[in-house]
Amino acid sequence: MTYPTEGTPALVRGGDVVIIGGGLVGLACAAALSARGADITIVADHHPGEASRAAAGMLAPGVERADGAAHTFAIAARDLYPSYVEALAEVTGTIVPVNRDGVLELFFEEREADARRTAPIDGQRWLTRAELHSMEPAIGEAVSAIFYSNDGSVDNVVLMRVLRELVEASSTVTIVQDHVTALDLENERPLVHLASGRTMIGSTVVLAAGAWSGGVGGLPRPLPVEPVRGQMLALAATPVRHVTYGPHGYVVPRGGAHTVVGATMEHVGFEVGITSEGMNALAEAANRIAPSFASARVLERWSGLRPVTPDLLPIIGPDPEYPPLLYACGHSRNGILLGPLTGECIAAIASGEAPGLDLSPFSVARFSGLQITVN
Ligand SMILES: Cc1cc2nc3c(=O)[nH]c(=O)nc-3n(C[C@H](O)[C@H](O)[C@H](O)COP(=O)(O)OP(=O)(O)OC[C@H]3O[C@@H](n4cnc5c(N)ncnc54)[C@H](O)[C@@H]3O)c2cc1C
Repeated sequence: MTYPTEGTPALVRGGDVVIIGGGLVGLACAAALSARGADITIVADHHPGEASRAAAGMLAPGVERADGAAHTFAIAARDLYPSYVEALAEVTGTIVPVNRDGVLELFFEEREADARRTAPIDGQRWLTRAELHSMEPAIGEAVSAIFYSNDGSVDNVVLMRVLRELVEASSTVTIVQDHVTALDLENERPLVHLASGRTMIGSTVVLAAGAWSGGVGGLPRPLPVEPVRGQMLALAATPVRHVTYGPHGYVVPRGGAHTVVGATMEHVGFEVGITSEGMNALAEAANRIAPSFASARVLERWSGLRPVTPDLLPIIGPDPEYPPLLYACGHSRNGILLGPLTGECIAAIASGEAPGLDLSPFSVARFSGLQITVN
């Protein structure tokens, strides 16, 4: 649905839920809420460096390992993907490519491997050098590897396109291209002030503004979400069939024709762009994984801004002092993995239901000493 631009009153009804942000997390929240019949407005503008299209698309809870309930959530998020993309295909007719071919984590020295010999997790298997080479003959000098057999990747660019199509076609979702300047949380129903001068009113507001989440005015508490830039590279070669992590970067084969190489972790504020140091580091990381990458043509270079929290875990759930404000931000390095399940949980909470998973590791209260329980 499109938003009326003329004759629009200053105070606009935003429906049951106003979602701030149109990245993967905002769109996944909208899709899940729309499936429940909720009336939704997404307010999103474009910022250079939006993470969801820039990402590599790895679904890698094995390498990107969290503890306890956060790990359980990450595994559930990964396992949701096949049915999630199937449901998207039923509505949109487009199949989002997902692979569960497994992820490799390479070790180039025995002491690096020893440091990783912790309690095994689901689907994890150690490979000797010989086993690794029979699985991936192009891999270079690695001495051993862990194979996470249930992990994989999604084409996040296609996923974003399909989700956007889905919400645009929904009769219960309105998308407004505008910038949210501030929230007014003085009353029972939150007000959302827009740069255009309009104010939107909803029953619930979902903050899903990625790296920019902490910059929205009027929040009840400071949000420790900061941008961390990641530079990326696409190479016209696919010598490695699996998503593979080396010590200084990873490679993600995509679409049978090219490989995405990532990523730097740079604290440079909201500065988007690429640097020769960053590109050289990525090229070296890829060459270390498979030397034949050295002769591959560079197809594309880009960067994006991860929304990073101090413990690298997202913030999901209601504000402890103002429950109509739901947080869905700070997904750090794993927002592609966690985005669809975040959307399902936010839709459940906004509908007054239990999310069915322990969200306590993701409470905003962990940053302020306040306690909140959402189970
Ligand atoms: C280089 C790189 C590689 C990555 N690789 C992976 C990976 O392999 N696997 C994985 O799981 N994750 C990965 N990530 C992390 C993942 O991309 C993010 O965690 C995730 O995309 C965050 O989604 P989001 O919707 O919160 O943020 P974004 O995609 O950044 O979207 C936020 C949206 O909010 C909008 N917005 C912001 N402020 C306002 C405002 N005030 N008013 C209106 N709209 C606003 C922005 O314009 C934007 O559209 C990677 C990230 C990067 C940068």
